[in-house]
Amino acid sequence: MNLDVVLAAAREQRLYPALILYGANLDVRQNSAIELARTMLCERSPDLRPCGDQDPCRHCERIGWPTEHFHPDFHVLERDLRTATSTGATKNFLSNAYSAPFEARGQVFVIAEAESLSGGAADSLLKLLEEPPQQSPRYFMLLAASRLDLLTTLRSRSLSVYLGPNDALDEAEISQVAEAFGQAIEGFVSDSAAIHLLTAADALAQTKGWKDPRNRKPWAIAAAAIAHYLEGAELDVSTRRALLATAEALLDAPRMRVRGITHNRILEGLLARHLTQPIA
Ligand SMILES: [Zn+2]
Repeated sequence: MNLDVVLAAAREQRLYPALILYGANLDVRQNSAIELARTMLCERSPDLRPCGDQDPCRHCERIGWPTEHFHPDFHVLERDLRTATSTGATKNFLSNAYSAPFEARGQVFVIAEAESLSGGAADSLLKLLEEPPQQSPRYFMLLAASRLDLLTTLRSRSLSVYLGPNDALDEAEISQVAEAFGQAIEGFVSDSAAIHLLTAADALAQTKGWKDPRNRKPWAIAAAAIAHYLEGAELDVSTRRALLATAEALLDAPRMRVRGITHNRILEGLLARHLTQPIA
């Protein structure tokens, strides 16, 4: 399913209520969500939707990414500083769907980083999809770099829209890092010697882009490399869990970097913390 097909369906108002917009990069995902939301709520005749930047209708004019725009029937949930989009924040966000639209013929809800939805958060969304509380249409858009990062329950109840190849991360680089990292981890699994964790940290550090402390990309590549390694690895449950937790922590690590700790220290610290602590 591609965006043009979905836009055509949205013009005709025969769109599936839950969409996953995945691939491409963050800007493309956000812009696609805005274009779709405008098409869904635009008040011009169907073939003119969305009516565009010149002389827009009262809905299209105000639908845009939050902080610069506000429309009472267009809602965006962005991830805060935590690793996951929490159940509480999601429930609060979705509570808008239990009342009638303010101005438009329906409501649109966008979850900006759907891969971070916690299990409980996903459940409240699924409940809403299964038992819609209102007559007027409600559309839910889940944005993610890869649809595989979303919970299976969400994937099976949403229409997936592919926006193009993910240009944010280099697949070849990820598999290269994953291979070196995997060798080190397998060494650690066989003899528990701490030296292997230093080698594993070195493997994650071999990407470029660490100089700029605010650059999130090398962290994302390191996390993706761990995930890539886990896909094919045969590991016991606790090691697998520890590595998943490490990958998750890496995505939050740029904040420690800003506090002046070097990336090598952070990588070593995270691996040691997750892999050498006794399992509770
Ligand atoms: Zn319009």
